[in-house]
Amino acid sequence: PAVPHLSFPDGHTIPQLGYGVFKVADEIAADVTAQALEAGYRHIDTAKIYGNEEGVGRAIAASGIAREDLFVTTKLWNDAHRFEDAIAACEASLARLGLDYVDLYLVHWAVPGQGQYVEAWKALIELQERGLVRSIGVSNHPRPQLEEIIEATGVVPAIHQIELHPYFSQRELREVHQRRGILTQAWGPLGQGRSDLLENATIAAVAEAHGASPAQVVLAWHLAHGIVTIPKSVTPARIVENLAAVELRLTAEEVAAIDGLDRPDGRGGADPATKTA
Ligand code: NAD
Repeated sequence: PAVPHLSFPDGHTIPQLGYGVFKVADEIAADVTAQALEAGYRHIDTAKIYGNEEGVGRAIAASGIAREDLFVTTKLWNDAHRFEDAIAACEASLARLGLDYVDLYLVHWAVPGQGQYVEAWKALIELQERGLVRSIGVSNHPRPQLEEIIEATGVVPAIHQIELHPYFSQRELREVHQRRGILTQAWGPLGQGRSDLLENATIAAVAEAHGASPAQVVLAWHLAHGIVTIPKSVTPARIVENLAAVELRLTAEEVAAIDGLDRPDGRGGADPATKTA
């Protein structure tokens, strides 16, 4: 399936649908990442804290896919926001991945109480200048911290990766992103199995109308909104199914009906405003 690419202001592009490997043990990461690459994914989302950069790297090396045809993201963990720690952490991630650059490096959480997110952002700017990373962004930054890093450095993140799914659609942050030219990336795009999202009646009706699965409908909703989405599965049939969502086009009415599922209590994961290291 042909995955659309979205453009960053820095000139690079990102495949709009990728493969996430949160909670995938390093022992199976190589196998499932290889299956994803075989299925046609070219965008892999990992993180230092996932403990599987080596497995992901082995799959990339074994795939024979040209480096420039792959988009690899990893993330700086919360214990390394100090400038020199962040530089070293990126170098260590690259070594584990077996790569000499990543396409995207993200500050994983702002951790406002720790107060080092501006320093971490300055380190990412340096890493981009040094060529260790192509594009830089953040994840889990509440609006005040997102605005603070921009005001402090003049450098706007290429993308912001946040919890986002139909029960938690993040309208306010998406508007901030749009105004500032930041792409929105969804983590937990399928709701992480924490809610009844994939059994929701509205989503089931849209799925029925298209002969698609509920997961495909949810992913097509992300794509329709211009969101970059990175579903995770370790089940071969679902790995294929999720990628095929790029072929599903929802009507404006269907998108609006799914927009209506947003809930004030829809957050499933940690709140970035109160997250501690
Ligand atoms: P997800 O929303 O992708 O849900 C994954 C779960 O959904 C699977 O474990 C499986 O149980 C189910 N599933 C997947 N495909 C399905 C299908 N076709 N039909 C039915 N059920 C299906 O949750 P996630 O893995 O937490 O998020 C995706 C990726 O986002 C992660 O793997 C990771 O790369 C990233 N992430 C980032 C952060 C962050 O803090 N930046 C946090 C969480 C996840």
